[in-house]
Amino acid sequence: MARFSGKVALVTGSSNGIGRAAALLFAQQGAKVTITGRNAERLEETRQAILKSGVPAENVLAIAADLATDQGQTDLINGTLQKFGRLDILVNNAGAAVNDPQGRMGIDQQIEDFDKTFQINMRSVVTLVQKAKEHLIKTKGEIINVSSIGGGPHAQPDMMYYGMSKAALDQFTRSTAITLIQHGVRVNSVSPGGVYTGFGEAMGFPPGALEKIMKYFESHKECVPCGHMAQPIEIAQVIAFLADRTMSSYIIGQSIIADGGSSLLMGMQAHDMMEILKQ
Ligand code: NDP
Repeated sequence: MARFSGKVALVTGSSNGIGRAAALLFAQQGAKVTITGRNAERLEETRQAILKSGVPAENVLAIAADLATDQGQTDLINGTLQKFGRLDILVNNAGAAVNDPQGRMGIDQQIEDFDKTFQINMRSVVTLVQKAKEHLIKTKGEIINVSSIGGGPHAQPDMMYYGMSKAALDQFTRSTAITLIQHGVRVNSVSPGGVYTGFGEAMGFPPGALEKIMKYFESHKECVPCGHMAQPIEIAQVIAFLADRTMSSYIIGQSIIADGGSSLLMGMQAHDMMEILKQ
């Protein structure tokens, strides 16, 4: 029997990137999936990718919705229940870093950017979990939040609001994990390092800009010791592990870091002690 056979998964932000890879993986491994995002064209690309992999059309529900709206969230939960009758796995993956077109960073970035960042990365997760909770309790289900190594413990001076929103999300993961495990629902998260997705484009970077940054990091082992930035499937596999109670039943309220070793290094280790002594 397929790993997620009989399960229903709702994956936010599945019109692109990590969410698309996770939805495809869940569907290929037997789950019925609700996929969602605002961009209907990209959402259809995800649906087509799932169908092309041999998954029957009746196992996929695509709902174009803005998660920042109450109506969008209600449509997602109601649509999933109407179509599939239950909810077992909620992946809170949708997220973004809001970029200032004028290049202001850190504390100089406008407070409107702070609000927008927290709206999608944090507030929408809280309200969606509020709506999904009773249905997940019925199935003794799983919540997986997609955080970031940007949430800490290191500083994130350039994308400060983004880092703050992910740090808040990590606290949300821990706290809801304690509350919901009393009802049999597990909450965990994954904290990726850099991943090749539409993240840069969503920030308004010109085509190819994110790739340029990623390639630079890949050529500096102090940025990513394993030598490559992640493909979305490498994060999707961690999401699937956390959603699979036969594999991760005793993990509660944790964030698994999947970053190729990036967050293990401090600045000091980027320098060669022997070279310093020669100076
Ligand atoms: P993408 O930009 O490729 O995907 C983001 C997804 O979120 C899209 O499907 C987008 O859909 C959706 N989304 C954004 N805003 C909304 C909204 N208001 N309503 C509904 N859907 C929305 O980026 P990633 O795949 O990289 O991002 C996924 C998660 O991974 C995010 O939480 C991000 O913070 C996290 N992450 C990413 C890293 C990376 O290096 N890429 C590193 C660490 C964490 P649409 O545009 O159709 O609305």
